[in-house]
Amino acid sequence: MTMQLPIVVIGGGTAGCTVVSTLAAMTTQPIVLIEPGSPSLHDDESAFFSVLSDVALSCVVQTTLVDGGDDKPYVQAHVLGGGSAINGLLLTGEEPSFLHGLTRMATEADCGQVGAALLAENGRLSRLWWNGGRWNPGRAVQHLVDEGRVTIISDSVTYLEHAQRVVTVAHTTNEAIEGSVFVMCAGALATPALLLHSSLERAVTGIGDGLQNHPTITFTLQLKQSVTQRFDAAVVRESRSSSDAKLLTIAYERTDANDATTGLLSISLMDPESRGGVWRSNTAMQNDFNMLATLRDRTAMREAVRELISTAMSASFSAISQQVLVDSDGITVDVLDAMKNADLDEWIADHLTVVSHAASSCHEIVDSDGKVRGIGNLYIADSSILHSVPPCSPAGPVVIEAARIARALGETLT
Ligand SMILES: Cc1cc2nc3c(=O)[nH]c(=O)nc-3n(C[C@H](O)[C@H](O)[C@H](O)COP(=O)(O)OP(=O)(O)OC[C@H]3O[C@@H](n4cnc5c(N)ncnc54)[C@H](O)[C@@H]3O)c2cc1C
Repeated sequence: MTMQLPIVVIGGGTAGCTVVSTLAAMTTQPIVLIEPGSPSLHDDESAFFSVLSDVALSCVVQTTLVDGGDDKPYVQAHVLGGGSAINGLLLTGEEPSFLHGLTRMATEADCGQVGAALLAENGRLSRLWWNGGRWNPGRAVQHLVDEGRVTIISDSVTYLEHAQRVVTVAHTTNEAIEGSVFVMCAGALATPALLLHSSLERAVTGIGDGLQNHPTITFTLQLKQSVTQRFDAAVVRESRSSSDAKLLTIAYERTDANDATTGLLSISLMDPESRGGVWRSNTAMQNDFNMLATLRDRTAMREAVRELISTAMSASFSAISQQVLVDSDGITVDVLDAMKNADLDEWIADHLTVVSHAASSCHEIVDSDGKVRGIGNLYIADSSILHSVPPCSPAGPVVIEAARIARALGETLT
């Protein structure tokens, strides 16, 4: 009897673990998940910055935010469950229907002084990826591994071998894994990088094109009192620019796991037009989010920052903060407030903050069921296939799309 070749899922993050669980319920075919990160031990920890302080769960890659700008460090998950094991727990958009009961709305008791100040300035409580514990799809996969249904290979895929428009083997640093179907879920930066490194651009055009992220500006609040809250972020505020662009303000009770005297206030442009890309120059992989490349995005972001300035200077925030710092040079919010538009635009381009919401770098190369056009057995199901960066916290749309693609693929399998 010949052994049935497995379905190979590459990357066990938010999308990869969702794909594995969905397929395991639909087919008896063997499933192999290749994920270099270990399971997280922090799913009972409600403070996001405390989880992030475990550096084993993430890695940093260099990214360019604005064309010609300096490289900035982008935090990427390196853990079973991916971004869902380490994210900020905010679920500002639609809750995936099949997760009802696994997330919940924050209450005023969950938030601290920064959240309370934003609530007083037209903020609202957010839904959280939390209901007595963090929603981490890696936990369901771990059960499937314990039951012997799924095999995990703890390694990184280095390249895909392919012949005549069919992928045959995923190579890791230590192994060559043959498969019948390959589902890429390494995230919006790693998935296109891996396809380009595998020379698939000769068969597929558009790999890496259209990369997006949320342009974000963050102010630091030096607080009058130490923080004591349960969640690091539970309050948000949605607003619109004059051109109807979507803006999201988030109140963070801390700046990192150890500092109880500073908080953060951020504002993001949630529906940017600007797009960048991931590409290969010689052997090195590069990326550029190319943020604020259009006049509409630059104007919306300037209005966003003026809104953030006004919030930071409001009575609610003055009551809790000794000082608001807008950058590491110690510039105060009053100085920023006095800047003319042209100077403010320049300051914004220099001081954009990196958020880990990369998306859309492979949306041009897949059909509506996530199948890579022109390749017989290669699918993509992670954030790279979203048509644009979601206008909400992104894990929800990533989960919904990953489950949809896995179901469509599962229906084609015996
Ligand atoms: C710090 C942080 C805070 C965030 N906050 C929020 C939030 O509050 N709310 C929200 O909705 N979203 C948030 N996000 C974003 C959200 O988590 C991501 O959009 C989502 O997890 C992306 O899912 P993905 O499956 O595309 O990638 P990931 O979940 O990042 O999964 C990619 C997986 O691929 C693995 N991998 C990478 N390279 C390889 C390789 N070569 N071979 C094999 N495996 C590989 C990685 O180890 C990782 O586990 C946050 C993300 C981060 C990192």
